[in-house]
Amino acid sequence: MAIYLDYNASAPLCDAAADRLTRALREEFGNASSIHRFGQRAKAALDEARDRIAHLIGGDPAEVVLTGGGTESDNLAVRGSAARAPDARRHLVVSAIEHEAVLTTARALARDGWSLTEVPCSSDGLVDVESLAAAVTEKTALVSVMLANNETGVVQPVAECARIAHAHGAWMHTDAVQAAGKMSVDVRALDVDLLSLSAHKFGGPQGVGALWIRKGLSLRAHTTGGRQERGRRAGTENVAGIAAAGAAARDARAHLEAAPRAVATLRDRLESTLLATLPGLHVNGGAAARVGNTANISFEGVEGESLVIALDLDGVAVSTGSACSSGTLEPSHVLRAMGLPPHRVQSAVRFSLGPATTTAEIDTVIDAVARRVEKLRRLRSRG
Ligand code: PLP
Repeated sequence: MAIYLDYNASAPLCDAAADRLTRALREEFGNASSIHRFGQRAKAALDEARDRIAHLIGGDPAEVVLTGGGTESDNLAVRGSAARAPDARRHLVVSAIEHEAVLTTARALARDGWSLTEVPCSSDGLVDVESLAAAVTEKTALVSVMLANNETGVVQPVAECARIAHAHGAWMHTDAVQAAGKMSVDVRALDVDLLSLSAHKFGGPQGVGALWIRKGLSLRAHTTGGRQERGRRAGTENVAGIAAAGAAARDARAHLEAAPRAVATLRDRLESTLLATLPGLHVNGGAAARVGNTANISFEGVEGESLVIALDLDGVAVSTGSACSSGTLEPSHVLRAMGLPPHRVQSAVRFSLGPATTTAEIDTVIDAVARRVEKLRRLRSRG
């Protein structure tokens, strides 16, 4: 038995993407910058993907820069904006619960002399808009607040943050890596200037992403070389991966009404049954609006890491937070920013579901979690 509930780390390739990837690897092998028909065919594959990705987020294809993943998109957004900011605007505002791709990039700029404000969040995992409003000034170049948090799934008030940023003449970026394909995302409704996404979070391959850049906004590229992506991202494009990302974007868009609702029903079943079965459980971020696939639960008296390992022995794949920080044994900066006491941070486990998750799988996971938690608690009380 193997049950995969770690979609927020990486989702399995969807069938449409797998088919498109294979076809592109075999047939669209040309360099998209070449003039001949093989090059033109590769370029057409990029254009097709660009259309589909733009459609997923309500943008214009000409505004989409294809990248090597979510981290690269975030870097391009933050560093590219900073490099274009006038000298009078050397201030960045990010939320304290951003993914490392934004947070460490902003901190690197701070070491280079930028001033940086990290805005706190509430105990529900929501970025504190009042603190953000107090932080943004006429000196702010960029505000970056993610759309859905990778650990808790909590959906952030991005449109409100964008209004504040724009009122002070700053640009607004949102990391929508955990939102795109899982909920309706519309760049115009959010009124952002920059939006990052990553294909492997919605059924596309790893190592492919996009940065949507509002028309008219000019960023400095951080890779230099050829003129690919209209000078904003040098380097021969990963045509097959991008074509597959486009297929995944189309698939996600086509199922955007029904699939997230079905996934949310299963997530709610997981949470409510576990809460009814076991004492000492807390759903972190449970009081806020969340993407429907994510459950972050603290199990009192249990080490999250131990539970993840025990469940793996049962064939159930979950995680203790973000894939990038798990393995480092660093406690989650997101749960800490929410002000959770250390024992709740240490005992947190993230379950992230996807469109292929079934009711039978969830029921098996509930049984496995209940058994393992009781056993770990027994061992601890004896220990
Ligand atoms: N931003 C968020 C919110 C994420 O969850 C992740 C990946 O976990 C990233 C950025 C980085 O994306 P990628 O893995 O494509 O580099």
